[in-house]
Amino acid sequence: MKLAARVNQVSTSLTLAISAKAKAMKAEGIDVCSFSAGEPDFPTPKHICEAAKTALDEGKTRYGAAVGELKLRQAIANKLKTDNNLNYQAENIIVTNGGKFSLFNLMQALIEPGDEVIIPAPYWLSYPEMVKLASGTPVIVNTLAENDYKITPEQLEQAITPNSKLFVFNSPSNPTGTVYSPDEVRALAKIIVERDILVVSDEIYEKILYDDAQHLSIGSINDEILARTIVSSGFAKSHSMTGWRVGYAAAPLELLQAMAKIQSHSTSNVCTFAQYGAIAALESSQECVQEMVQAFAQRRIYMYEAINAIPKLSCPKPYGAFYLFVDISQTGKKSLDFCNELLESKQVAAIPGIAFGMDDCVRFSYATDLNTIKEGLKRLTEFVEQ
Ligand SMILES: *Cc1c(COP(=O)(O)O)cnc(C)c1O
Repeated sequence: MKLAARVNQVSTSLTLAISAKAKAMKAEGIDVCSFSAGEPDFPTPKHICEAAKTALDEGKTRYGAAVGELKLRQAIANKLKTDNNLNYQAENIIVTNGGKFSLFNLMQALIEPGDEVIIPAPYWLSYPEMVKLASGTPVIVNTLAENDYKITPEQLEQAITPNSKLFVFNSPSNPTGTVYSPDEVRALAKIIVERDILVVSDEIYEKILYDDAQHLSIGSINDEILARTIVSSGFAKSHSMTGWRVGYAAAPLELLQAMAKIQSHSTSNVCTFAQYGAIAALESSQECVQEMVQAFAQRRIYMYEAINAIPKLSCPKPYGAFYLFVDISQTGKKSLDFCNELLESKQVAAIPGIAFGMDDCVRFSYATDLNTIKEGLKRLTEFVEQ
């Protein structure tokens, strides 16, 4: 069979491959400590499930508008206003099959051959692949651990060419847990406006913040940047709803309408009764979010301190999301070997940094219980010492 050339341009997800191997080992009865999870380990809060069940009982089981239920788009616009000081109407919102499809859809609507998309590394592994699937060119800018893996305004400025169309910004970040300060966000926004490019702000982890970290939504700074911003987000990480597949994008009207067109010929609407769960997630108390963040916070400190106590391993302190991005360069190993050997010899699963564009690092997720974290770190220490 001759497959389309675009298939060969993209890699298969390395994250999913290691997770699958760890799962298979678990199924065989092997005691695996897994730090590979890219999702919260909590069940979806009950009141959200109840709202979806009610919607099912009420017959909300049919096709809806491709862009999403009006009630949900309204609730999202309200949320963006109240939480993020972003000025959007319901007509600026599209409900998508997870945050992932809002980004995919955006690339399809915006990017064509010759267009460059600036992506700081380490990056969420799907960004460059989505750009390539839209026939664009990913321009990867490497960031430094010393700078908490943040792109500097100078680096952004230097990466911009006449072909630059879009900058991909993700704070809090997967895989590093880095959170840009409000001043750092303002400095990037200034360059985006001056050089007249667009920015997609992936804010899926905005609620998962620690200590005094603050999230500033880049589009809220002024009207010039808002006109050049696309917000991408969803319910997966904040409300532990990964399997529900409800995300959204907010964008200037012309772009939103283009994305609506693409969605109408691809996924159509997100599962109707799942959208009613999302409405409940926005319109009821956010206490459940804070409870999850508190659990993550306790694990974060434990794991950050334990990893930095292991000779040859180090990582910056994360201020958001639920990941530690650990520098393994002093072990003399590259990330794929490190992770394979760690899984085989100590039954500890983590994600090789090469998947995120950095081969000297490994991502450890702390979306798992404290006992697993303690046991896994004991094994990790033994592994590095050997
Ligand atoms: C999880 C994640 C998403 C989107 O996930 P969905 O399940 O599709 O909503 C987007 N960006 C980053 C960085 C993520 O980690």
